[in-house]
Amino acid sequence: MRKEIEIAMTPKQATEPSGWKSAFAHILHIQPGRIKHLNPLQKSVDARSNKVKIRLKAELFIDEQPTETLKNHRKKYPDVSRKIPVIVVGAGPAGLFAALTLIENGMKPILIERGKDVKARKFDIAQINRDHIVNPDSNYCFGEGGAGTYSDGKLYTRSTKRGNVNEILSVLVSHGADEDILIDSHPHIGTDKLPAIVGAMRQTILDAGGEIYFNRRITDIIVQNGKIKAVEDKGGNRYEAPAVILATGHSARDIYELLHRKGIALEAKSFALGVRAEHPQALIDSIQYHHSPRDPYLPAAPYSLVKQIEGRGVFSFCMCPGGIIVPAATEARQVVVNGMSNSRRNSPFANSGIVVQIDPSDIAHLSEYGPFAGLEFQRRIEEACWLAAGARQSAPAQRISDFTKGVTSSNLPECSYHPGIISAPLHEILPPFISGRLQEAFLQFDKNMKGYHTAEAVILGTESRTSSPIRIPRNAETLEHIGLQGLYPCGEGAGYSGGIVSSALDGVNCAQAVVKKYR
Ligand SMILES: Cc1cc2nc3c(=O)[nH]c(=O)nc-3n(C[C@H](O)[C@H](O)[C@H](O)COP(=O)(O)OP(=O)(O)OC[C@H]3O[C@@H](n4cnc5c(N)ncnc54)[C@H](O)[C@@H]3O)c2cc1C
Repeated sequence: MRKEIEIAMTPKQATEPSGWKSAFAHILHIQPGRIKHLNPLQKSVDARSNKVKIRLKAELFIDEQPTETLKNHRKKYPDVSRKIPVIVVGAGPAGLFAALTLIENGMKPILIERGKDVKARKFDIAQINRDHIVNPDSNYCFGEGGAGTYSDGKLYTRSTKRGNVNEILSVLVSHGADEDILIDSHPHIGTDKLPAIVGAMRQTILDAGGEIYFNRRITDIIVQNGKIKAVEDKGGNRYEAPAVILATGHSARDIYELLHRKGIALEAKSFALGVRAEHPQALIDSIQYHHSPRDPYLPAAPYSLVKQIEGRGVFSFCMCPGGIIVPAATEARQVVVNGMSNSRRNSPFANSGIVVQIDPSDIAHLSEYGPFAGLEFQRRIEEACWLAAGARQSAPAQRISDFTKGVTSSNLPECSYHPGIISAPLHEILPPFISGRLQEAFLQFDKNMKGYHTAEAVILGTESRTSSPIRIPRNAETLEHIGLQGLYPCGEGAGYSGGIVSSALDGVNCAQAVVKKYR
């Protein structure tokens, strides 16, 4: 007999899979030996009551063995070395998954990445933290693995309609991610484990006969008779193919400028901007789990907050329990912050972006910049933060309680941000339509999470790269650019995804669209 059932267990029990059969057997009033196979389906934290529990849903085979093998199999990647080439620009989640999908379907990816391979990239990242120097081709956003590599590696997404999320997770598992991501309701990998997974994906592409080039920034697109013919890198190398998947991420501002120069249509879209808030993790644990210190078998507590303030959403974004805040600038003269954590999520801090939704109408004063108004808006605030922080990668910061009162902090609490923080009036640095909504939101968040609005918490400026302010428009069915045949705008930079999983899904979808037309 096959049965799907969910039970609640203590956090300790949940960490001991060898005891799961007994726990299910106990609930079903049967001998554990009658459960011939247990296939865990989903694990989630239930913190609604004072006694925090783990809910485990599983498929049980009672008195019978499963008829088919339940394990996820590694996909087959055939030799594509002599097949039709497809250019993929950008080796972030969208580009990597596009490349793997092309191989699966018998096409040869030529993956071109401006940054370094995932190992070499580490030195440039250390340099930002230590020496305040940003390499414009190799940083937290650029390089093999894209912006998702030196990140938290949170893998949850709301965009389940865009494709098969489980398939994305299975590919990650077959390249070294822990199998737990297949059942956790909030799966995450951690920045300590992501580089090896990205390296394994590279090896799969190379083993199948795909090509990968690092340190090659694409600087030109060659168009002939309304069709894309080739792309060229800064060293003058030319790459020809009938189709180009452009997955360059939302920080590749030079790519937007290139497309505009070439007369390739772009359009403005809404985006979000704000600050990154950091609290002591123990405080967040005590609010979310009703206890401090938390049960040692529970993960660092996450949170998710959203309010409507004067017609705009203000929401938490990319929340990193047990994480650190990192400098995510891609050029000199800008301070951009983001968050990440390692697999154990064991830092004493909890951080999250707190951002305000911005519509193109909010920045009408920049209309002279056309589709670039949002970029110009981001750029001005990022530069103001850089100046406020002493023209370094330090970040301007303020205690949350001072921010809501509109006063500069006389001192600051400890913070995880390695380049350091400097007290500054973020309520004045951010435009009033953003800072006013953030001030109100912090007060309202405290109603959902008592203690969230506190002098112990600090905010850093600026969280400006949550989403792209530009869309590269494409046909909804063919996914091809509306004006240029053979160009497939893909992933977050094209404005069609946000986050690792949805970008990976978009990569899969674009590759399938290319296969449909060009194989
Ligand atoms: C610090 C940090 C933490 C994050 N944490 C999470 C998280 O926990 N969970 C989550 O879901 N999301 C997270 N994100 C967001 C996530 O990383 C992005 O949504 C995702 O990486 C977007 O994927 P993409 O492939 O579309 O673009 P990207 O990842 O931005 O990749 C684009 C790639 O294109 C390359 N490129 C750009 N221009 C050129 C050019 N001219 N020529 C050649 N190559 C070029 C870049 O170097 C880059 O490697 C985080 C982001 C950051 C910065």
